[in-house]
Amino acid sequence: MSARRLASLIENWFRKHQRSLPWRAAYDPYGVWVSEVMLQQTRMEVVLGYYERFMTRFPNVASLAAASFDDVTAAWSGLGYYRRARMLRDGAVDVMTRFGSVIPATVDELMTIAGIGRYTAGAIASIAHGRLAPIVDGNVARIVARLFAIEAPLASPALMREAWVRAEELVAASGSPRDFNQGLMELGALVCTPRNPSCRQCPLRRQCAAFVSERVDELPRPKAKMATRELRIPLYLVTDRTGRVLMRRESGRLMRGMFHLPHGDTTLLTGTPLRVIAGATLGTFRHTVTNRRITFEVFAVARRPRARAGEYAWIDPAALTAIPHPSYVRKALRLAGIGK
Ligand code: SF4
Repeated sequence: MSARRLASLIENWFRKHQRSLPWRAAYDPYGVWVSEVMLQQTRMEVVLGYYERFMTRFPNVASLAAASFDDVTAAWSGLGYYRRARMLRDGAVDVMTRFGSVIPATVDELMTIAGIGRYTAGAIASIAHGRLAPIVDGNVARIVARLFAIEAPLASPALMREAWVRAEELVAASGSPRDFNQGLMELGALVCTPRNPSCRQCPLRRQCAAFVSERVDELPRPKAKMATRELRIPLYLVTDRTGRVLMRRESGRLMRGMFHLPHGDTTLLTGTPLRVIAGATLGTFRHTVTNRRITFEVFAVARRPRARAGEYAWIDPAALTAIPHPSYVRKALRLAGIGK
């Protein structure tokens, strides 16, 4: 099967079936960059609720670079994986200082910017600038595995290597790298889905090795499953007379800068044990983060701990939207009848 034929089937399908998405209105490089970072690890329906708000708050690279870390992560609150927000802002600072506010067009230059890897560089180069650059994410790897009947398991280095080679051949044979790459991703999102793909509606069904050999359910081969970890974590709710809530600013690598409720062994954190009010369990709720299934148990605390200066702050729940915090904080406050 010729790469040219496959590429043109994908492009034509995209031109007919593409969804109307806000960043497709102008293909501005900054908008494409923000959308791609948001779409990594977050579903489209969720991203659509945040994208416009984020773009109104930070309409260009300069405004994002000038914003504080707190402002950016607060605007990101609810999208999860906050490291992405930090990297996006670091990248914007990089663009301002090294590229005079102009987002470069080549993959090589883009990959020198903080937080931009091969995938995002390919997406910005091809979708925003129309450059000939391949992109491979989970969707593309799945289509390629089925299309060419590749036996390497999902997310394995062997499959990813093969997918990059095939994606490069195909985009080189396309008439429009922008339409082709978006078409490949859109096909993965709408037609060649992980389960029950809509092969009858697929423009590639005659060329697809998995479909022709009736192996669609087998490919790509599943990856080894990560074991699920069950955790139980106590959360401590400390309020002052005005209803403000005591929160701790995280300094660890993953959640750096985010505000959390005091949790776990707070003796280690504050130097003073928290005294839980007898019988004051406010309830429990479940929260899942990748392979960790966490049961949070929320306790009311009798008195203010002597918190280490700089680590803790009293936060008005009404002002929560202005500070970066993970979504479990809202769940805990709702359980206590605080906030919305
Ligand atoms: S025919 Fe089916 S399995 Fe093959 S690419 Fe299309 S949707 Fe995916």
